[in-house]
Amino acid sequence: MIEHRAAAASDVGRVRAGNEDSFHRGDAVFAVADGMGGHVAGEIASRTALEPLADLDGKVFPDGQAALDALRDAIVDANLTVAEKARLEPEYRGMGTTLTAAMIEGRRLHVAHVGDSRAYLLRHDEFAQISTDHTLVQHLIDEGQITPEEAAVHPQRSIITRAIGVSPEIDVDAFSLDIEPGDELLLCSDGLSGVVPDAVIADVLREHDDPNQAVQRLIALANEGGGPDNITAVLLRFAPEDGFAPLPAPPQRDEAASGGRRRTVIRSGSDGDTDGWAEKLGRLGAGPAATEDEGGPSRATGRRFIAAAVVVAALLAGGAAGGRWLLSRSFYVGVDGDVVAIYRGIPGNIGPLELHWLEERTFLTVDQLPAFLADDVRDGRAAASLNDARNIVRNLQVRSNDPEPGATPTPTARPTPSTSSSPTTTPS
Ligand code: MG
Repeated sequence: MIEHRAAAASDVGRVRAGNEDSFHRGDAVFAVADGMGGHVAGEIASRTALEPLADLDGKVFPDGQAALDALRDAIVDANLTVAEKARLEPEYRGMGTTLTAAMIEGRRLHVAHVGDSRAYLLRHDEFAQISTDHTLVQHLIDEGQITPEEAAVHPQRSIITRAIGVSPEIDVDAFSLDIEPGDELLLCSDGLSGVVPDAVIADVLREHDDPNQAVQRLIALANEGGGPDNITAVLLRFAPEDGFAPLPAPPQRDEAASGGRRRTVIRSGSDGDTDGWAEKLGRLGAGPAATEDEGGPSRATGRRFIAAAVVVAALLAGGAAGGRWLLSRSFYVGVDGDVVAIYRGIPGNIGPLELHWLEERTFLTVDQLPAFLADDVRDGRAAASLNDARNIVRNLQVRSNDPEPGATPTPTARPTPSTSSSPTTTPS
């Protein structure tokens, strides 16, 4: 295995009562999990999800493909284990977690993930996110509806579209890369990536030779940015061409207080100064004084929009833990133009934000339906699952061109998420 140094830390932040993040820092396996579910459930979910990954540590694989498959299988395992726990224990119902994991195998690095905990790679001084967020805002970016800059401050940015433990099936993103000397891999929860800009994170990695100091600095910066969420960072640093330099002695106390032995590094896309960025961001809309007259509604993340996010969360889940919710688990039957269609998500928009996306179009048009059913479908009829939605469509087909429109109209339930039977969890 290629020589490496690793550091990891997790912090509750400044707002949350408990820490629902967990991490694994092993010999060859590293992972971050960000749980949701309220009370202790989120913590249980994130810790449980890490167990199959810890079991991978120390295993030997015949080749890279086998290693990648094993990593993916461990995440599939984690999903089943968390889902089973959630099914059996009423107090854990509805819990889930993100999971982002990396495994070193020889000179290769295998990465697999579900949710929005990120993997970043710093290579040849270029810092880039190598995971893809499974979030509503990423979906909107892919659809060309919003820009990455808008997504970074979007009030619904914590809505994830995939998570471990909420369904027996799971879609895992997995890939491998060849390690190059000097590569650095950072795994982190959104308590870091959602608060500290990428360019600032990159500078911290460049500025600290000691991975422990880098991790501590990242956590301190997230807290300086308000610490709105639990913060977790796992840093994996591979030996440069000429090997690791010995770690410097810990800085003197007064030196540490003034920012340590920081080199001044000026780079494009960054002001080369990790201090003072929080105030700058605050002026851009992250602070309590933000209003819609500063840069337009899409940039404003003041209390008004936080309130809107809470309303969305309530709509979606009847109380979603940590403001997160899985839009992808909700379905409804609605219309696309004149055609009956199945959507993922919930009907309606919040400002420019659509909370749904088209899953399937049908061959049925609304004008084939009796009036009361047509109205019902235009409003959106909630479905418990994709199959349920397809059944609703089949029933609509049977009722289409019905000569006796609705002697006893079907009750028109307002759209509710598929998980409305879950107990209400306390938003935190
Ligand atoms: Mg989080």
